[in-house]
Amino acid sequence: MLDFFYPRNCIQCGAVSPEPLRHICWDCLSDTPRVEPPFCDICGDPVAGDIQHDYTCFACARETPSFDRARSAVRYEGAAGQAIRALKYNHSIWVVPDLTELLLACVRAEYSNIEFDWVTSVPLFPTRRRERGFNQSALLGAGLARRLKVPFREGILRRVRPTVSQTGLTASQRAANVGGAFRVGLFARPAGRRILLVDDVMTTGATVDACARVLKKSGAVSVHVITVARG
Ligand SMILES: [Zn+2]
Ligand SMILES: [Zn+2]
Repeated sequence: MLDFFYPRNCIQCGAVSPEPLRHICWDCLSDTPRVEPPFCDICGDPVAGDIQHDYTCFACARETPSFDRARSAVRYEGAAGQAIRALKYNHSIWVVPDLTELLLACVRAEYSNIEFDWVTSVPLFPTRRRERGFNQSALLGAGLARRLKVPFREGILRRVRPTVSQTGLTASQRAANVGGAFRVGLFARPAGRRILLVDDVMTTGATVDACARVLKKSGAVSVHVITVARG
């Protein structure tokens, strides 16, 4: 019965998974391209070429983001990309442990010297959350927080305005789409907190930047972003 709800096969190749709660097999996991250096020191966007020194990308040099840093575990392709799409559009919540492991490994590699007071996630607009039945980023954030032994605070951010999908928009359209879309929750009190902000996919970073902006305005000491995938 459990296998009916939690299929035992790899989401990409269909191979039987050796571990009950894992749905990306080792082969497909190792085939999924990681986000590896060199990348922008601030937003973590990978750059082609052989760069040895600290590097800041053009977008971050032009306008410093509100978040302190952003990092992503893998590229938005392969088995991890398929797992994220299955989670968002097909209610496949059994992939959450696999994606949480990717987040955890990335936090340990990139943010090992940083202490966090709270983990939170990018919120959905309430009607979207009701349609989907859950917020995929909150599931990932809660899973990661448990592994890090840091409190998960879902309600500190609210999406106060519905936004259209960022897919297919240019960078400036994306920024305009999410501008003013987020507020800090009424009783959140992020002042003095070091916050780890979780999302599933980061593309231009406009969404997480808008979230970080309101958290910083409310006094958050730092906002570090972690996403499973980089679009
Ligand atoms: Zn596989
Ligand atoms: Zn950058």
